Amino acid sequence: MNGAADAKLAIHGGSPVRPESLPYGHQVIEEDDIQNVVDALRGFFLTTGPLVSEYERAFAKKVGARHAVALNSGTAALHAAVFAAGVGPGDEVITTPITFVASSNCILYCGGVPVFADVEADTLNIDPLRIKEKLSDRTKAIIPVDFAGQPAAMEEVTSIANEHDLVIIEDAAHSLGASYKGSPVGSLSTMTIFSTHPVKHITTGEGGMVVTDNDEYAHRLRVFRTHGISVDANERERAGDWFYEMKDLGFNYRIPDILCALGISQLGKLERFVERRREIASRYDEFFSRINEIEPLRQRPDRESSFHLYVIRLKEELLTVGRKEVFKALKAEGIGVNVHYIPLYWHPYYQSLGYTRGLCPVAESQYRKIISLPLWAGMSDKDVEDVICAVEKVVRAYRK
Ligand SMILES: *Cc1c(COP(=O)(O)O)cnc(C)c1O
Repeated sequence: MNGAADAKLAIHGGSPVRPESLPYGHQVIEEDDIQNVVDALRGFFLTTGPLVSEYERAFAKKVGARHAVALNSGTAALHAAVFAAGVGPGDEVITTPITFVASSNCILYCGGVPVFADVEADTLNIDPLRIKEKLSDRTKAIIPVDFAGQPAAMEEVTSIANEHDLVIIEDAAHSLGASYKGSPVGSLSTMTIFSTHPVKHITTGEGGMVVTDNDEYAHRLRVFRTHGISVDANERERAGDWFYEMKDLGFNYRIPDILCALGISQLGKLERFVERRREIASRYDEFFSRINEIEPLRQRPDRESSFHLYVIRLKEELLTVGRKEVFKALKAEGIGVNVHYIPLYWHPYYQSLGYTRGLCPVAESQYRKIISLPLWAGMSDKDVEDVICAVEKVVRAYRK
């Protein structure tokens, strides 16, 4: 690429591919998004108002679910879903170690015990065979994560769940807009959670959503979102207009109307944003298939990823340096690389709970090779070329 590939690495004093760093993920906010939020600010409600239910209806329709319950973060959505599933002290919930800490913290919030099942080496998604090995009398639910945007092996996970009467809470924070055997993510599991943090496909600043076809779960999620308080119309009739009852220990997980205004206009752009992410991913695929030293994640033919992340794996046996050096060299070139994720139970808090290294060997060995490259809908073709150019430059310099 422009002869830059043979140039001295920025980390060794050469000139960087980009003078300013390109982030690995970023929101795309357009004029109509801004206008929608401004209009909401002029409205009567700032928090729970008509825009919350409008956003929920539009979201449920988009992902093919009966109910959508909006909350103020993806983490709150996970907490509410684990609560709605009835997970309590001592109950075990199986999840993956290659995920953000929230996928497992939500189990601890309810007094449950996270049980980590190892991942498939080529997709980094939870491995159904490993789930089977972790089942016990205490298992209550499974939280598969659609890593990087590619749905997990949902057919296999569903058949395990059905056989053992388990609830599936699909963590789809990476996979809004993805599909599995032709069905949209959101229509596959008992409950599915999404996040609208700025690095995700669409944003509300902070925000989350749980979708479900189950009326009872939808009700429990709504009550949990607002302190565990429920208002029964009949009771209110008898007791007077002030009547309400707190029936569960809930939280204030409500999302403001202002943010739902942003969510509504962002949701209308989902297809365009996902399309652009896929376009960038296929440009990366095309280029990286020609570089021996790196290997992208494998995509299964029966799933369409919505590419929250683009993860490459380094073949360290073909390089003179390790992942840390390659990572630092790419950073120095102005490429905002990241690593998703450190095996979850390696974090000190989980170690203090008694989880030990070696628990999921595939996750641990893959972790040592992975780097996430920038991928978001607002990247220009020039940004994409810069990433490719920097990867080529760094690999060339460290090739054996
Ligand atoms: C982003 C994310 C979450 C949590 O979302 P927040 O909205 O930041 O609370 C949960 N799980 C995964 C896999 C995520 O990437």
